[in-house]
Amino acid sequence: MYDIIIVGGGPGGIFAALQAKKVNKRFKIIVLEKGRSILSKIKVSGGGRCNVTNATFDPKELILNYPRGGKELISAFNQFQPFDMIKWLEKRGVSLKINQDRKVFPTSNSSQTIIDCFLKEIKNSNIQVRCNQNIENISKKNDLFEIVLDTREIILGKKVVLATGSSSDGLKFAKELKHSIDPFLPSLFSFKIKKTDILKLSGLSQKDVEVSLKNSPYTQTGSILITHEGFSGPSIINLSSLGAKLLHEKKYQLILIS
Ligand SMILES: Cc1cc2nc3c(=O)[nH]c(=O)nc-3n(C[C@H](O)[C@H](O)[C@H](O)COP(=O)(O)OP(=O)(O)OC[C@H]3O[C@@H](n4cnc5c(N)ncnc54)[C@H](O)[C@@H]3O)c2cc1C
Repeated sequence: MYDIIIVGGGPGGIFAALQAKKVNKRFKIIVLEKGRSILSKIKVSGGGRCNVTNATFDPKELILNYPRGGKELISAFNQFQPFDMIKWLEKRGVSLKINQDRKVFPTSNSSQTIIDCFLKEIKNSNIQVRCNQNIENISKKNDLFEIVLDTREIILGKKVVLATGSSSDGLKFAKELKHSIDPFLPSLFSFKIKKTDILKLSGLSQKDVEVSLKNSPYTQTGSILITHEGFSGPSIINLSSLGAKLLHEKKYQLILIS
């Protein structure tokens, strides 16, 4: 019987386990990972160097990078933000460097440094980790969560954290536990436009262009790139994220104002 069962051994699940131990050292915690090893995505992150955080220390500025989740994230960032992450890693002997573009990397230039730090912490915190675990279903009976593995083993826990990253498994479990799920929508895409002469300028980019979706509150200023079928570049990509819901509702037929 566990206090907390964490499903998924990516950085999200592993950090959640470590932070929970910080709240109460006596918590009995287990991480159930489907794959052969935990933290596998960190290995390839940042081209193998792991861009571990960003040196933007004002939560109000930080949330501007999350066009549709800023409001929800502000209280989280007020509790733990990139500055805390840097301090957390440095306290554990990880030396970091901040690039001019504010990206933060280990000075070793190796994502393995971050993996090793997390693995050491997990070991020292007495958190159980089990890889190659296939969960068949998760249910809640009375006040306890029951996790059934494909081996028929049953694991009981008072709390479950679903940290399955972008895997659809987490959604399936959340639905089974009666959580409501917002439908997925495309985001972070370029815009296609009707054929006009402007497409002849394909390859041209321009800085500091204000773009907005007509009859919407969504506006972005930044670089744009004219492509062979429309517009791309940071301001367009961000605008697609800001207006993801509206664009979907309007079947991607909107007027772009520049
Ligand atoms: C090529 C690449 C480069 C990247 N570079 C960076 C970077 O430099 N900096 C950065 O911040 N981010 C980077 N990212 C993004 C970053 O890797 C992710 O944001 C991060 O891994 C998300 O962590 P997570 O724990 O939420 O999910 P994941 O890392 O996806 O972990 C989820 C875990 O859950 C497990 N799982 C799934 N289903 C089940 C199940 N049913 N039962 C048990 N376990 C399950 C998976 O096997 C996985 O181990 C990069 C991503 C990629 C692909």
